[in-house]
Amino acid sequence: MYYTRPLFIHKRLELTLQNNTDSHVEPRIVPRPEHAISRANISPNALKVLYRLKGAGYDAYLVGGGVRDMLLGREPKDFDVATNALPEEVKKLFGNCLLIGRRFRLAHVRYGREVIEVATFRGPSEGDEVEGTRSETGRILRDNVYGTLVEDAFRRDFTVNALYYNIADFSVVDFTDGMDDLKAGLLRLVGDPERRYREDPVRMLRAVRFAAKLGFRIHPKTEAAMLALAPLLADIPPARLFDEVLKLFLGGCAVQTFELLRHYGLFKYLFPQTDAWLSHEEDNFPLTLLVRALANTDLRLAEAKPVTPAFLYAALLWEPMRHAAASREAEGASELAAMQEAASEVVEAQLHHTSLPKRFALPMREIWMLQARLTRITGMRPLKLLSHTRFRAAYDFLLLRAEAGEPIQTLCEWWTEFQTLDENAQLARLRTTAKPGQGKKRRSRRGKRKSKQNNNTATDD
Ligand code: ATP
Ligand code: MG
Repeated sequence: MYYTRPLFIHKRLELTLQNNTDSHVEPRIVPRPEHAISRANISPNALKVLYRLKGAGYDAYLVGGGVRDMLLGREPKDFDVATNALPEEVKKLFGNCLLIGRRFRLAHVRYGREVIEVATFRGPSEGDEVEGTRSETGRILRDNVYGTLVEDAFRRDFTVNALYYNIADFSVVDFTDGMDDLKAGLLRLVGDPERRYREDPVRMLRAVRFAAKLGFRIHPKTEAAMLALAPLLADIPPARLFDEVLKLFLGGCAVQTFELLRHYGLFKYLFPQTDAWLSHEEDNFPLTLLVRALANTDLRLAEAKPVTPAFLYAALLWEPMRHAAASREAEGASELAAMQEAASEVVEAQLHHTSLPKRFALPMREIWMLQARLTRITGMRPLKLLSHTRFRAAYDFLLLRAEAGEPIQTLCEWWTEFQTLDENAQLARLRTTAKPGQGKKRRSRRGKRKSKQNNNTATDD
């Protein structure tokens, strides 16, 4: 509730000074003729929200990625609004409005599939002296104070994300020299980098994501603090890191993002099992598979084709998965059992770092298990596999493994050709595909198991 406002005014001023944010900072106002934001590029729904707030007597600004991207001549992903109206006041203005978030309430104004997020200006958090607001490392745990426009600006992550487009006069309001950084292609944290990363270590991942997406350099101080504080990512809840992983790898610049994550030593806090295998690569193989998968993802997004977190995770975790499966097989487990057990082990270990909802984990496991089933190309099995819902993804994954150097070229060629045949030709092909082990002497179960892969008609050695 807002009844605490008078109490906070004094405390806020004190904290503002402590945080090196000056409530009396004069912003640089860039008038309409001097910047590139045109109302023609703003979504009509976002404009509607801004005008209605303004009409009701409130301040209303576009802020964040939408403003940044329009200033760069890029197409914004979404539009966020900041206002001095309280969430309840926003709700009164819009019938199609939902208040979300328990601690810091946000208003979501919905128009069909488009959601305009309307946030009340935030003030500085209550600070270290109030028990329970920060963790031992300085991470902000409670964050529920409303504030003024200038306070809101100083709480944002990067200077280029702290630019406000004012619907009252169409100017851009800049408290943090974000316009200069935007021109210079520089990503700079607002305020003291160490403090800002400690407050929220996810800002390190955001730095990498924006650097990759915008092609910006990270400011030396913002960069140095990141190298020093990367281990703080270990304390972030897995569910939040899962959300970030999707933004990092399904944003259209996955290859570049991955390289930066590795460069700054951040990848190991997201996928430690994979990172461990990447460090002892044989012939660059695991790196190639992953980079190829990420390059495919970028390409598909560029062509507006769908991408799925299940395929992404299948590729991200394939290295630990195949090694774990191989060691279980070496201990005598059947190929399928080894893969099932390995999959469970790898997923279980991953969940400590990033969560993976079942609706993605299950299809991911199917893609993996189909890798084994795709090697069985005798009898009528291939026809059944063709109609499996996950066949396409599993086949794409098989191609990726082959391209990355796994000895399965012949198998891939077999499947590629098989799909081009009509039904009669497929049946004829199945009749001529030799059964594994045909023409060879029967061996003991164990011997057979061990040589299963070598035996297969279509895998290379
Ligand atoms: P994108 O194009 O990916 O949407 P964005 O900059 O809009 O980029 P969002 O995650 O949508 O990113 O966040 C909107 C704005 O909220 C940011 O531009 C930034 O001003 C602020 N913000 C988001 N996350 C943080 C954070 N962890 N710390 C401080 N400010 C943040
Ligand atoms: Mg955004």
